[in-house]
Amino acid sequence: MHPQYLIIGQGIAGTLLSYEFWKQDRSFFLIDEPHNISKASLVAGAIINPINVNRWTTVHEHESYISTALQTYRDLEKDLGVSLIKEMSMLVFHGERQKELFKKARSYSSGYVHPPGREDIARVNRSFASKYDVVKVAPVWKIYAEQLLSAWSGFLKSKNLLKEEFFHADECVIAPGGVAFKEIRAEKIIFCEGAKAINNPLFKKLPFTRNRGEALLLSVPDLPGSYIYHYGIRLVPAAKDLWWCGSNYRWAFSDLSPDPGWRMQTEALLRQWLTVPFKVVDHVVAERPTTEGQQFLAGIHPAMPSAAIFNGLGTKGFLCGPLLAKALSKMLIDPHRTTSSTVKPLDKWLR
Ligand SMILES: Cc1cc2nc3c(=O)[nH]c(=O)nc-3n(C[C@H](O)[C@H](O)[C@H](O)COP(=O)(O)OP(=O)(O)OC[C@H]3O[C@@H](n4cnc5c(N)ncnc54)[C@H](O)[C@@H]3O)c2cc1C
Repeated sequence: MHPQYLIIGQGIAGTLLSYEFWKQDRSFFLIDEPHNISKASLVAGAIINPINVNRWTTVHEHESYISTALQTYRDLEKDLGVSLIKEMSMLVFHGERQKELFKKARSYSSGYVHPPGREDIARVNRSFASKYDVVKVAPVWKIYAEQLLSAWSGFLKSKNLLKEEFFHADECVIAPGGVAFKEIRAEKIIFCEGAKAINNPLFKKLPFTRNRGEALLLSVPDLPGSYIYHYGIRLVPAAKDLWWCGSNYRWAFSDLSPDPGWRMQTEALLRQWLTVPFKVVDHVVAERPTTEGQQFLAGIHPAMPSAAIFNGLGTKGFLCGPLLAKALSKMLIDPHRTTSSTVKPLDKWLR
């Protein structure tokens, strides 16, 4: 088998990059570890939100990230014939300090922040305790990550472009002229391994950090499903009557087992916040692929031109992934294009 590109990992990074290759008629093959219950892309709330609601600021360069993301997910919907993206409003509940910040920030938050309408207030009063102020952030978008990843993997399998197995680096020979892995001879290998990249011998000098986050899956049958609700934690509609509730950020940890303390704390907060009944259905954890200074890592190895990486998506994989995947695919397809305003060179760490 002689694909141009061998991609390792099918989270949102591997999905978006392979989609770019497919649209540009490039040959590729993908390898993804089966049954990974800690795949960040499946544990995520998968929201595209231009506003950082803790500081009431907009995400840097949000306009180009959002426009490419919307176009890409809508194209994927058409190509795969499944519903993948939904425009929504997010109702943000806030206390005193948040109120002050919000007043200051409202003028520069790009038209995404609004006072709640009468219908929004009625909804809040039906399902939440009445002691909170509410602000509306709209539009935001929910990406149906599970549908996206499984529809894309089904499509790839139907074309024999995906194998579900663990890729062992010691079975692969990476040389400047190409890559050999079992029966595969590829021009380039692109690592989209998420948090596991920290152990990649070629890329381990990159500034990876470690961060884990967890979420509860809740059954809340009486909560109207067309909004996202935020009060430090977020309630995001996941499926009929099912809600994603998360998350936390933990920088020091030794494993990915669910934290019963966080679950107790979150359930206590939910009991204060919600006036409708809820039941915990599941508790999930994953490691976010994070870096010092939240830098995206998308580029070709400066000393090994047949190897590249797409990583460091941190907390914004669904928002920023599409534009980064587009820029990286262009760089990989056109070897003379060594710089891009979207992806930064990896030289300072890998030379
Ligand atoms: C709790 C939580 C909430 C989040 N909420 C949001 C949100 O609302 N919006 C947002 O944009 N982002 C959110 N994120 C961040 C988002 O999940 C990540 O940025 C994104 O999923 C990273 O995607 P990835 O493809 O790099 O990694 P992953 O999704 O982890 O995918 C990596 C893939 O590579 C595979 N792999 C690794 N090594 C190998 C190997 N050797 N062989 C074969 N396969 C391998 C893994 O099995 C996996 O399938 C959240 C994250 C968490 C944890």
